[in-house]
Amino acid sequence: MNRPLVAILSGAGVSTDSGIPDYRGPNGLWRKDPEAEKLVTYEHYMGDPEIRRRSWRMRRENGALQARPNAAHRAVAELERSGVPVRVLTQNVDGLHQLAGMPARKVLELHGTARAVVCTRCHGRTPMEDALARVEAGEEDPPCLTCGGILKSATIFFGEGLDPVVLGQAAAITKACQVFIAVGTTLQVHPAAGLAGVAADHGARLVIVNAEPTPYDEIADEVIREPIGTALPKLLKTWAI
Ligand code: ZN
Repeated sequence: MNRPLVAILSGAGVSTDSGIPDYRGPNGLWRKDPEAEKLVTYEHYMGDPEIRRRSWRMRRENGALQARPNAAHRAVAELERSGVPVRVLTQNVDGLHQLAGMPARKVLELHGTARAVVCTRCHGRTPMEDALARVEAGEEDPPCLTCGGILKSATIFFGEGLDPVVLGQAAAITKACQVFIAVGTTLQVHPAAGLAGVAADHGARLVIVNAEPTPYDEIADEVIREPIGTALPKLLKTWAI
């Protein structure tokens, strides 16, 4: 029997049950607060040490690294464990799919990860918790330990492009999958959102699980409006082996 490749595009709505608010979406916290948006805008971050000091304080205080996976993350990992080929394309930076048990190589993080920091000069990556420990110990804007460059969260800031390699892999999976499930995303942030259209164009069954309408509902084969925490586990059981 051929096992269908299931691609799951996950957005902020998947992590709200884990206590992580929507920061980045069209109605997200950052877009509503210009001062907060500066903290994650590349030009401001690189040009203003005070912005960086505030960013590090925010990272230390928001406790995002303590968030735990919820029923939706676990359902995705269980589907993969059942033997179904699953790939996750996520707009989230919280790493909760992997914490729930999805193998890291099967998760594409379109907007990067908040669990690592990257040097803007030598591009070296180190764990976020190491950098936060330095902030805790008194460094207000810890520089790269290798080259002295400015460190930033390994998330994609406003004003930065998405990683073309990650985006290419996401497009390839989208074209190859038989089932494409967009969950917890308003499908309004491009280019990630456009993947739903690409999947449908290539003949995948398009399923949308989201509380609010999306621009792709009309071309979807199935639209589910129930809460994600109950709807996704139920939906994925129908695909499990
Ligand atoms: Zn460096």
